Amino acid sequence: MQPLHLYNTLSRKKELFEPLNAPYVGMYVCGPTVYNYVHLGNVRTFLTFDTLYRYLTFIGYKVRYVRNLTDVGHLVGDGDEGEDKIGRMAKLEKVEPMEIVQRFTNDFHTVMAQFNTFPPSIEPTATGHMVEQIEAVQALLSKELAYESNGSVYFDIETYNQRGGNYGKLSGRILEDLLNDTRELDGQSEKRNPLDFAIWKRAAPEHIMRWNSPWGEGFPGWHLECTCMSTKYLGKQFDIHGGGMDLKFPHHECEIAQGDGLTGHDPVRYWMHSNMLTVNGQKMSKSLGNSFLPSELFAGSHYLLEQAYSPMTVRFFMLQSHYRSTLDFSNDALKAAQKGYRRLANGLRVIKSMSYKAGEGNEDETKQQDIRQAIQQFYEAMNDDLNTAVGIAQLFTLLKYINMLYLNQLQASVLGEEVFNLLKESFITFMQDVLGLKEEGTDNQPILEGLLTLYREYKDQRQYDKVDQIRSYFKAQGLAIKDMKHQIDWAYEE
Ligand code: AMP
Ligand code: ZN
Repeated sequence: MQPLHLYNTLSRKKELFEPLNAPYVGMYVCGPTVYNYVHLGNVRTFLTFDTLYRYLTFIGYKVRYVRNLTDVGHLVGDGDEGEDKIGRMAKLEKVEPMEIVQRFTNDFHTVMAQFNTFPPSIEPTATGHMVEQIEAVQALLSKELAYESNGSVYFDIETYNQRGGNYGKLSGRILEDLLNDTRELDGQSEKRNPLDFAIWKRAAPEHIMRWNSPWGEGFPGWHLECTCMSTKYLGKQFDIHGGGMDLKFPHHECEIAQGDGLTGHDPVRYWMHSNMLTVNGQKMSKSLGNSFLPSELFAGSHYLLEQAYSPMTVRFFMLQSHYRSTLDFSNDALKAAQKGYRRLANGLRVIKSMSYKAGEGNEDETKQQDIRQAIQQFYEAMNDDLNTAVGIAQLFTLLKYINMLYLNQLQASVLGEEVFNLLKESFITFMQDVLGLKEEGTDNQPILEGLLTLYREYKDQRQYDKVDQIRSYFKAQGLAIKDMKHQIDWAYEE
């Protein structure tokens, strides 16, 4: 089988994944700027890297997963000028910036738990690493890769490139094009070169979030925090750095320049970028006004939504596309995802309660082979740059056999004990552990079982109005009663 290959944005190729220090893997993912509620687009990026984290762990790596919280330095417009996103919100709401940070950090954690993502191993904050950031600015100044200007400090791209750096190599941007695109007017800037970026900014009097530094009161540049926190927890060079595609430039480009400038090493081995969630082909974003919140999705309360969708439906919807493709939101696609996810969830529920029973049927090699092959292809798909879309298709092949067993159309003995157990274990672990898809809405399982007992009794007594009442109760919960020849059971409505 092909071992794990990941697409590296830096080389623009799929590469064999070889960690620097196996079985340990260091992975850093840019977390949210906690000034507002996370929208569904943000969720897509975090789900991608949650799935990668799960898969790496599943195949035996010991992953240190660092995902930061940006709580200072990210300015409105993503550039070097203007208000801090958090400071601006604090002013609007007339509260402390840290109240904004706390509120939206809490929301982010709630949303991440709703989508069944694992918390990172370390979740550092930019404000918690002010000393490290000031030290990094000092180090870049002493290497003359940065200069002070009017209380701010800028990274000097020209010097960096003269010393062998290649600013633009990640995003493939050409410096001259960038210069032509820049809106800064000659002579009006504190910068020597319009492309230089701030690593420390002097705080204007109205700026609330400010710290003492050798250059006066100010705050760190947005890109610096990720360099300092990734280096601190993962080392000068580490395995994987992830984020959304829109962070390639300038954020990640600047991280490379800073890291390389500070240590003389490219900081990251594999740069991974997940593509955007779009709405009618346009990136979902707060500023475009086409974003919606997970809570609106769960309630079906946004004008773009025809109904409510559950967290696992959405997780499944996202995993059904490859992370490097754009994914367009649509009600039709989500409805299809709901159906697909519920079919798998039914399979998960029933296989969990099945165990091997010896029977009369002879082992069927074709069926055994089909199951083994689907399992193998699941790994191959995941090893092929985390192709969850192809992986999910294999789950449906396995589901076909689970359903035949459930409906008594196939005896376990036809699969043989080994293949039966392989089918059961693989289906459960692929779905729950690797893809993070769990059963939903089954907290009241004992009550459902009790109601089914009543259903059977009422049915025997021909009290059909009561039977119908119980049926409609199940329906209202998104469940269905399966009245089969050999048994009566409940299932998620597909
Ligand atoms: P932010 O809070 O804006 O810094 O974004 C947090 C993460 O969400 C970043 O990795 C972004 O690249 C990512 N992101 C933002 N919008 C989208 C979108 N429409 N689709 C996928 N990822 C996104
Ligand atoms: Zn970052």
